[in-house]
Amino acid sequence: MTKKALIIGGGIAGPVTAMALQRAGLDVEVFEAYDRGSEGVGAFLTIAVNGLEALRVLDLREQVAALGMDSPRMVIVNGRGRRLATLTQPSRTVKRSDLYRTLRDEAVRRGVRVTYGRRLTDASITGDGVRAVFADGSEAEGDLLVGADGLRSRTRALIDPGAPRARHVGLLNTGGFATGVTVPGEPGTSYFVFGRRCFFGYLIHPDGQVWWFANPPSPREPTREELAAITPAQWRVRLEELFRDDTGPMLDIVRATGDIPPAWNTYDFPSVPRWFNERMVIVGDAAHATSPSAGQGASMAIEDAVTLGRCLRDVPVPREAFAAFERLRRERVERVVAQGRRNGSGKAPGVAGAFVRDLALPVIMRYAMKPGAMSWLYDHRISWDEPVPAPAH
Ligand SMILES: Cc1cc2nc3c(=O)[nH]c(=O)nc-3n(C[C@H](O)[C@H](O)[C@H](O)COP(=O)(O)OP(=O)(O)OC[C@H]3O[C@@H](n4cnc5c(N)ncnc54)[C@H](O)[C@@H]3O)c2cc1C
Repeated sequence: MTKKALIIGGGIAGPVTAMALQRAGLDVEVFEAYDRGSEGVGAFLTIAVNGLEALRVLDLREQVAALGMDSPRMVIVNGRGRRLATLTQPSRTVKRSDLYRTLRDEAVRRGVRVTYGRRLTDASITGDGVRAVFADGSEAEGDLLVGADGLRSRTRALIDPGAPRARHVGLLNTGGFATGVTVPGEPGTSYFVFGRRCFFGYLIHPDGQVWWFANPPSPREPTREELAAITPAQWRVRLEELFRDDTGPMLDIVRATGDIPPAWNTYDFPSVPRWFNERMVIVGDAAHATSPSAGQGASMAIEDAVTLGRCLRDVPVPREAFAAFERLRRERVERVVAQGRRNGSGKAPGVAGAFVRDLALPVIMRYAMKPGAMSWLYDHRISWDEPVPAPAH
C-alpha cells in the first residue's frame, strides 16, 4: 500500500522533500504555517554547486537556474580595500522569496498538495502511523511525518523535548536591494568586505541592481521585538556609523536602498542529538542549521531531501529508513556547520583579531583553493539510482 507522508514546512526542504518522496512512490502533502506569499521578503541566498547538482537529480535545476544570477566568483577584501582572496566556484544567487515560490509551484504542478495556514502544534504516534495537530484545530494522519519546519522546528521538540536551542552566533543580518548606484565590480562576482566594525557583502545583478547584506556584530541576542522596533532610518544611521572608516562602496549602497527591512538574528546548531523517532524525522535547518556564513543552508536542505527520498524508497520500515538517512547525512552536515562557524568568526574580530585575520585569510584561502581541498563540500554528488541498504540490527 502507498505510504502517506505529512511534510511540515513549505520553505526549501519541504517542497523538495515532497518531490523526492513522490518520486520514491509515496503519497505526500505539505503543510505550511503561513499564508501563501508571506515568505521572507528582502533576503537572498546562494545555492552552491553541490545544491544545484542535488536539484538536478529531481529535474529542478533548470527552474532554479532561471532565477537570480550566476555568481561563480568571490572576492574578499578588508576595510582598507586590500584584496585578501579570490575564489571561483559555480553557484546561483537567488531571492529567497523567488526560490520558495518556484519550489512550491513546481511541487503543486507535480501533483503535491500544499496547504497554507496550517501551523503544526502537536503530533503523536498512533497504532500504525502518525497524527498531526495544527493550531487551527485541524488534524491530518499519515504513515510518517517529516519536519521541514526550519530553525525553530516544532517537530524537533516533539521528537525530543530536551533538544538544544539554536546558538546565537553574535551577528545580526540585514540587507536589501540598491538601485541607481554605480559601484566597482562586475556582475556575477560576490564581493565580501571585512570592514573594521562590520562585515558586508554585495553582488551586482546584470540589470544594475545591487544586492547586499551586512552582519552588524551583536554579542547579545536581541529579542524579535527589539529588532522590529529599529526603524529603517535608524538602521541607515547605524550602518553609516559602522562603515564610516572603511574603504569601499558600502555607504553608497546603503544610501541607494529604499527601506531597509528589520534585521534578524543569526543562529546555528552545532549538533541536534535526535533526528527521528518511530514515525517522525527532521530535515534541513530543523536538523542542522548552519550560519549563513557557510553559504550552504539551502544546499544542505536540498541534499537532505533527495537522500531521504532514496532511503524511504529502499527501506520499508520508517524508523530504519530514518536511521539510514542519518547515517548518510550527519557527518557531512555537521562538518558544514563547523565550517560556517569558522567563516563567521572573522566577521567581528576586534582590532587585534582583524590584524591576525588579514594575515591568515590569504593563507587559508590559498589552502582552500588547492585542488581537492574543498572537494568534500562542492564535489558531493547524490546518485538517485544507488540503492540504500537497511541499517544492520
Ligand atoms: C540571512 C540569511 C542568509 C542566508 N544565506 C544563505 C546562503 O547564501 N546560502 C544558503 O545555502 N543558505 C543560506 N541561508 C540559510 C537558508 O536560508 C536555510 O538554510 C534554508 O532556508 C533552510 O531551509 P528549510 O526549508 O530547512 O527551512 P526554512 O526555509 O526556514 O523553511 C521552514 C518553513 O517551515 C515553516 N514552518 C515553521 N514552523 C512551522 C510549523 N510549526 N508548522 C508548519 N510550518 C512551519 C516556515 O514558515 C517556513 O516556510 C541563509 C539564511 C539566512 C537567515
